[in-house]
Amino acid sequence: MVKKPALDAVDVEILKLLAEDCKLSLKDISKKVGVSIPVVRKRIRRLESLGILKGCKALIDPEVVGAVSYLIVVEGREIRSISSILEEFSEVEKAYVSTSRRSGVLIARFTDLKRFDEIISKIESLGLNVKSTMLIDLEYSERVWTPPEPSQRVTLKCAFCNQPIIGEPYKVVLSDGRILYFNSEECAKAYFLLKKSKG
Ligand SMILES: [Zn+2]
Repeated sequence: MVKKPALDAVDVEILKLLAEDCKLSLKDISKKVGVSIPVVRKRIRRLESLGILKGCKALIDPEVVGAVSYLIVVEGREIRSISSILEEFSEVEKAYVSTSRRSGVLIARFTDLKRFDEIISKIESLGLNVKSTMLIDLEYSERVWTPPEPSQRVTLKCAFCNQPIIGEPYKVVLSDGRILYFNSEECAKAYFLLKKSKG
């Protein structure tokens, strides 16, 4: 039996600090949480390996650079094809989908409103239906969600296909000590092949 990965109070504390400010140094985190720097480093690597800590991104205010934001509500049988909109239009910041409801919501930011019409046409060309669009003129949330408490329930996802891993994961330890988890050896092979081709 593999020991189930779990999120303890130290992990939660580290996640909360990084969610607030991901520029914090290992030393800062170590002081605030009360564990040594090597422990912080190890915990962060583990959180990355488990796919809980997915990265560290800049927050940009679209309004300041004159971008106009829209919510676009979409429905249709092939709601999953909404992902191709994300790939094609860099204006789309995020897509939320409920496959059971065959509905989805896109959040997009435009500096050129011609692109808004292009997105709508593209959505319709995929056989999806634009249910409504809303101009966003107020945004309240700037919080990165963090787990409220320690948890035993950590669902590993395959580093290649992003599907939840059921059963024993296929593990690969990288030279920097990070561990990648895959559904199968095939997924691992595909992952490294893709990485190689991307350089
Ligand atoms: Zn996979």
